[in-house]
Amino acid sequence: MFGRRHTPARTDEHLLLMRAAGLLVARTLAVVSAAVADGVTTLALDRLAEEHIRDHGGRPSFPEVPGYRHTLCTSVNEQIVHGIPGERVLRPGDLLSIDCGAIVADWHGDAAVTVVVGGETAACTEDLALSRATEESLWAGIGALRVGDRLYAVGEAVEASIEAAASRDRRDYGIIEEYVGHTIGREMHLDPQIPNYGVRERGPIVRSGYTGAIEPMITLGSPQTEVLADDWTVVTVDGSRAAHWEHTVAVRDEGLWVLTALDGGAARLAAMGMPFAPVGAD
Ligand code: MG
Ligand code: MG
Repeated sequence: MFGRRHTPARTDEHLLLMRAAGLLVARTLAVVSAAVADGVTTLALDRLAEEHIRDHGGRPSFPEVPGYRHTLCTSVNEQIVHGIPGERVLRPGDLLSIDCGAIVADWHGDAAVTVVVGGETAACTEDLALSRATEESLWAGIGALRVGDRLYAVGEAVEASIEAAASRDRRDYGIIEEYVGHTIGREMHLDPQIPNYGVRERGPIVRSGYTGAIEPMITLGSPQTEVLADDWTVVTVDGSRAAHWEHTVAVRDEGLWVLTALDGGAARLAAMGMPFAPVGAD
């Protein structure tokens, strides 16, 4: 994790392939999110995701992680990340994080969203605030990616965003430290990793063509975690609920390209005053 002076970088041709993978992940998450409803099982969502990815020229990447065989991770309420799809029936007000990865032509995309089952009317105010704060911190982290800057500026920006949200929302939020973002390319999890909090080291210098997955995981309580007996599901020790948002992002001399956003990040980046810089037309 430490000691590397520059990040890896991709060619424009490889970024176009990663966009194909990223867009497939974005569309799959849109299809799955639309199917989230009272009475649906997390396994049904997983099957929908697998079918959508295979029908559109890709393959799910999570089954390539040794010991894991599903297309999605579905983490409900106090589950933070790596929840295994199964017979659990979703109920109104459940806070569901959906993490999805796909491969197209050997290149990976990885993204996550958090939704409330039954929508905003079924949600607790604090869960909506948590999810909003987490998504905002993801975009703050994305906005800290700049060619020539240090990679760990991302974690500082995520942390500052969460602190600002905590004071606005008058809540304490916990930033998960044991699970972090990562470099991504022809494999899903590559070094260097990307912490979601400020660290003493400043990290490697970001090169044009760098591709990273930024993925803050935030709780309504303590950031302490434990892994359930299934060896996968990560939960909060205090039982507080958690949210998880993730995007795969390409950093270019000209600006940013959010490979797992349907619009490539154009709208959010414009609102942040950041240049939107796809390869070719997007
Ligand atoms: Mg992911
Ligand atoms: Mg990831």
